[in-house]
Amino acid sequence: MFKKSLFKDLTFADIHTQYSDPHDAERFFFDLKWKDGFVCSKCGHTHYTTVVRKNGSLRTVYQCAHCGHQESVTAGTALESTKAPLFSWILVMFAYVISKTGTSAKYISDLTGVSYHTTKLMLRKIKQAQKQDNETHIAVDCDAIELDVFSYGGKKHGKRGWGAEGKVNVAAAVIKHYVWDDMDGDEEVFEATDAVKFRIVHSENKAELKKFLEEEVPSDCVVHCDRSSSNLALDIAGKLVDAQKFEVDTDHLSSLDHIISNFRSKVQGTAHGIALQFLENELADFEWKLSRRKWKKKSIFASLGRTLISGAHQTRQGMIDYFKDVQKQLVAA
Ligand SMILES: [Zn+2]
Repeated sequence: MFKKSLFKDLTFADIHTQYSDPHDAERFFFDLKWKDGFVCSKCGHTHYTTVVRKNGSLRTVYQCAHCGHQESVTAGTALESTKAPLFSWILVMFAYVISKTGTSAKYISDLTGVSYHTTKLMLRKIKQAQKQDNETHIAVDCDAIELDVFSYGGKKHGKRGWGAEGKVNVAAAVIKHYVWDDMDGDEEVFEATDAVKFRIVHSENKAELKKFLEEEVPSDCVVHCDRSSSNLALDIAGKLVDAQKFEVDTDHLSSLDHIISNFRSKVQGTAHGIALQFLENELADFEWKLSRRKWKKKSIFASLGRTLISGAHQTRQGMIDYFKDVQKQLVAA
């Protein structure tokens, strides 16, 4: 007999027990999409009937009792038009949540039994949704930030072909005691001891860094910066910092260095580095997970579900086009 207290958080065993039935898997997403019950996206009516699909699909179609609009749980979300069973999504999501080092599709496929190609596509969609989610979390309060710019890529990380010589600069801001609102209207306020915001910038370009800080950080934050870039910080911090408030303190940079080196080792651990056009998505994943790292897996898993449900629908072709476009921009930069 195992003591119940041995199981402190969500495990794969729980996931199997709770969601392996297709109706339960669907219910998981239903409750995230319609937390107060079904609401028609066309007319706002709350009564519905369910329609049996002729093709034998297990996914339910909900038909509005007022206007007849038909909708599934995945419609209008990052999961729209997915052919994979929702339980496969749940398995991959959970494996993704518990993977600490890297998130290689091969590893998650081995762990879950979901095919490699499906897993790879799911991970792309998850990371795109995380990126959108990060953008909706505006910091409303914080104690201080640390700012630095690091470069990624170049020969050391390169593979043959495109990107072998490429290098991009990433601005990183670690935010202490980051408090943010959930913009989905839940009026939930979250707190993280440390959170990080990343943005790919073209150089240590003052205008770009200023914009980055203005968009990501509350205006009354104290900014810590490396000595070498302190003048830069003074400039960019124009609206953030009057000279008195500004502190140059290299001791404070330890956590930022730590975060950047963690990011590097995570990315190196995933298939020996990533092509530059996927860097933004890896940064988004890192940013998303870091601000939730003190949470229980159960909460992170539910949050990932919400992230996918509020994420925009992206077709496979749409994503291919998107990454081609990113690649073009990087080449041009
Ligand atoms: Zn309706």
